[in-house]
Amino acid sequence: MAYHIDTGLIKEKFKVDTECPLCEIKKIVEEQFLHEFLNDAVMEDNTRIKVGKKGFCARHFDMLFSRQNKLSIALQIGTRVDNLMPEITDTRNVKSALKQVKTLENASKTCVVCDLVEESMVKYYKTIAQMFQREPNFIKTLVSSKGFCLHHYSELLKYSKSAGFFAKEYVHVLGSTQKRNMERLQGELKKFCDKHDYRNALEPLGSAETALPRMREKLYGKKYD
Ligand SMILES: [Zn+2]
Ligand SMILES: [Zn+2]
Repeated sequence: MAYHIDTGLIKEKFKVDTECPLCEIKKIVEEQFLHEFLNDAVMEDNTRIKVGKKGFCARHFDMLFSRQNKLSIALQIGTRVDNLMPEITDTRNVKSALKQVKTLENASKTCVVCDLVEESMVKYYKTIAQMFQREPNFIKTLVSSKGFCLHHYSELLKYSKSAGFFAKEYVHVLGSTQKRNMERLQGELKKFCDKHDYRNALEPLGSAETALPRMREKLYGKKYD
């Protein structure tokens, strides 16, 4: 299951009025993988092996289950349970019974979809750094964006070396864009709070009306179900 990195998607989402263009990109990447897991991927042997080994996290199980193709998800979950069965041992030996604990505690946390999404997102972080190095117009797009959620800001910093000789300039632009936009949002939040003072009751709220949900996106990323 290979994922092609789309630089057009990066340019498009960086121009969207959003608190984090990478959350927007992640949503699209995730949708594509969910679609594949409910269609062709279910037939591929190596995908079935991975599903058997890792399964799905609860969030991705729910997302797959909410779609049309119930047979596909049922077959894959069957494969996962086949893999889990040998881990559940019927014994009177307490020590060997306890050996199951660690494996089973992690059994519902590992996820093939999470892994694939993360793998693709790392490619996006690196590509964005390379675009900063190669495309002067993209620097302008980045500077005029609204910054990122804290997680994606950190991830961009983590892969900043992909900007090569431009890495220093890149981390500087990332930092200044992020700080400016955190300050902007902090200002909107203050305006929202001030509005609750009766003396400001007639002041127009403007964009500050949605400051709280947008601050949620900044701190924790966009919420998708
Ligand atoms: Zn984000
Ligand atoms: Zn997952």
